[in-house]
Amino acid sequence: MRFYDWLIVGSGLFGATFAHLAKKAGKRCLIIDKRPHLGGNVYCESIEGINVHKYGAHIFHTSNKEVWDFVNSIVPFNRYTNCPVANYKGKLYNLPFNMNTFYQMWGVTTPEAAKAKIEEQRAEAVMALQGREPANLEEQALILVGRDIYEALIKGYTEKQWGRSCTELPAFIIRRLPLRFVFDNNYFNDAYQGVPIGGYNKLIEGLLKGVETRINCDFFANRAELSALAEKIVYTGQIDEYYDLCFGHLDYRTVSFEQKTFDIPNYQGNAVVNYTEREIPYTRIIEHKHFEMFGQEVYDCPKTVVSREYSTEWQHGMEPYYPVNDDKNNKLYLKYKALADKEENVIFGGRLAEYKYYDMAPIIERVMQMEIL
Ligand code: FAD
Ligand code: UDP
Repeated sequence: MRFYDWLIVGSGLFGATFAHLAKKAGKRCLIIDKRPHLGGNVYCESIEGINVHKYGAHIFHTSNKEVWDFVNSIVPFNRYTNCPVANYKGKLYNLPFNMNTFYQMWGVTTPEAAKAKIEEQRAEAVMALQGREPANLEEQALILVGRDIYEALIKGYTEKQWGRSCTELPAFIIRRLPLRFVFDNNYFNDAYQGVPIGGYNKLIEGLLKGVETRINCDFFANRAELSALAEKIVYTGQIDEYYDLCFGHLDYRTVSFEQKTFDIPNYQGNAVVNYTEREIPYTRIIEHKHFEMFGQEVYDCPKTVVSREYSTEWQHGMEPYYPVNDDKNNKLYLKYKALADKEENVIFGGRLAEYKYYDMAPIIERVMQMEIL
């Protein structure tokens, strides 16, 4: 008999949730991670008393009450509501596209006036499409909100983020953003939203309480030995690496962060400011304290930490962040998936192993629904 029931490769939210639920079901688990810390991309580093989201800003949001109750049973979440602001050529606009944005863009003050303005703006795109479906992100954006908003708030940001022209990107990406005719700057439509009180590390620590862990432990450095420790494996790393890149490598977008600490309590007055013009090289600036400090708390902490985010194409050795789900990569992924489907003792799960854009809540939901647990 082997020493563990499960070897879990990767301590991100997929691996940590799996380990938590498997332990609860009486299974013996070992979770390993090649990084020098646990938590995957939700890991935070404490700097000047501020939880800095080292792998990009993370806001938990869901409409699934079971998932919300589950995470809150591990650590209570705060009331943070994501309301990013866009800076275009020095002028600020609220996001997502709502009555505040329309007022700032055109001076319209009623939903009816805003709808009329958008109809006028869309007219050109409606004519151009002649009844067919939008074939790319540019066509989709123009038919949704028209040219003014597309040019100021979408085109530059999207091309920086994806490193491709809006005419080469799939239409669905922009359909994620809400369009509202009310004065509501909440970026998400979900019923529940927040950030763990005390930071995401508390969530990971809570999930992994009593679970055996090893950091600085790369599965591929000791594959045979590690695999021999457990009956079965949960693998949350890159699926192409698991198969030695035998069909070639999958593409990703990655983000690099330029982090600075300032001796002032409040740098930009908001957690997230997007820079939507093409000429500014970064996509957004995150001011981390605003995720967890509100009102006077912002000023009680005399310093602030900000990160500029630069989006680039992934190369070997970089952190893989966003799967590029275009036709070429989706086809390649299916070849790897066909191999994975034949494995009897390995479960492939999470953003990298399923090569899928997953938010945090759906990851947890997926693990909670796994019959194996
Ligand atoms: P990961 O967190 O990537 O964990 C995988 C782990 O496996 C890593 O720790 C890695 O080191 C480890 N690993 C890989 N290979 C090996 C190996 N060979 N040996 C050992 N360990 C290995 N979601 C939201 O809901 N809201 C947000 O605001 C949000 N913002 C995001 C911003 C950015 C920039 C990014 C990239 C993602 C964001 N997400 C957000 C998504 C969220 O990060 C993911 O849903 C979640 O982290 C995925 O968890 P995971 O366990 O699948 O992957
Ligand atoms: N987007 C944009 N302008 C913005 C914010 C977002 O054009 O100020 C577009 C961009 O193409 C992005 C998409 O909307 O990829 C979805 O936005 P979201 O915030 O969901 O992006 P994420 O970073 O989560 O992929």
